[in-house]
Amino acid sequence: MLAAILLLQIAAGLVESASHDYNIYHPMNEIEDWMNQILFDNPDIVSIERIGRTYEKKDINLFKIGERSGVMKKAIWMDCGIHAREWISPAFCQYFVKQILQEYRNGGEMAEIMRKLDFYVTPVLNVDGYRYSWVDNTTRLWRKSRSPGPPGCTCYGTDLNRNFNATWGTFGISTNCCSEVYCGTGPLSESEAAAVTRYVEQRKEDFLCFLTIHSYGQLILVPYGNPNFTAPNYDEMMEVGLGAAEKMKKVHGMSYEVGTSPDILYPNSGSSRDWARLTGIPLSFTIELRDNGTYGFELPQDQIQPTCEEAYSGVKHIVNYVHHKKVSGAGTMATASLWAVLLASCITTTTITL
Ligand SMILES: [Zn+2]
Repeated sequence: MLAAILLLQIAAGLVESASHDYNIYHPMNEIEDWMNQILFDNPDIVSIERIGRTYEKKDINLFKIGERSGVMKKAIWMDCGIHAREWISPAFCQYFVKQILQEYRNGGEMAEIMRKLDFYVTPVLNVDGYRYSWVDNTTRLWRKSRSPGPPGCTCYGTDLNRNFNATWGTFGISTNCCSEVYCGTGPLSESEAAAVTRYVEQRKEDFLCFLTIHSYGQLILVPYGNPNFTAPNYDEMMEVGLGAAEKMKKVHGMSYEVGTSPDILYPNSGSSRDWARLTGIPLSFTIELRDNGTYGFELPQDQIQPTCEEAYSGVKHIVNYVHHKKVSGAGTMATASLWAVLLASCITTTTITL
């Protein structure tokens, strides 16, 4: 669909090299225009795919970015905007795409990486929720999807990051459809979570790393949200995460904490991060961007650039690790086989859900 629109726009002479302002927040239609522009400017290494539709029948589009080759390449996943109000997250996906394309054109390591790896980047996953958060001040802090609740409940929306098939419905959720952490009527009851699952699972052996971008709190979260389980390569993910945090601190001096959600935030279930690791993707991280609560979800626009710069440095560390250890043959692939089952710990409560 986007490709067809693009062709029409090209025919009408509507696509021009207008510069996109990466230092402001953009509504959904502007992000879609920007996606078309990126495709128009980089047809040799960028394509756009629709991975599914939202409840309101809006397209969920992702970029596939990498040098074309005759074979299926290994890949890194990144999604932004699963929670509507976390506007810095889609802003980061835009910055990330711009930056990797620029570095690719400049040659050097990114050109080498993109010969071996593809990036799959979904700039806005929760399209309905994101659009709703732009309606007016009363909807700015909307978090969930926009599907209606089950019969008898008048509230809208499911927390998409509680709807994935990963110990669904156990920790950090609510079955009350008015709650911010309502987990839906069942795993993948929401079309947005189902679209990601379907897309990734059809070639899950190719995905080496799953990154999902949120705000706020300045955290790098590793699986699992369920305190009863420990990922088989927990140590590896912690090491990579700590390395990323170290790189991030060097950019503007900001500290990012690294750990599992129960250890440094709160237990949860049904997250895409946990599902990705459970389905066999060796590395999976949630990155909670700035800040630490001063502005929270309403991070001022003058912090977009520094936030993106430091986050890019952290993500680049993870990408380099994947490239060196998982693709270039310098290390061995971690295999997921056993979980260490630990004693259940109590659920902590919090009023802010990230
Ligand atoms: Zn979030």
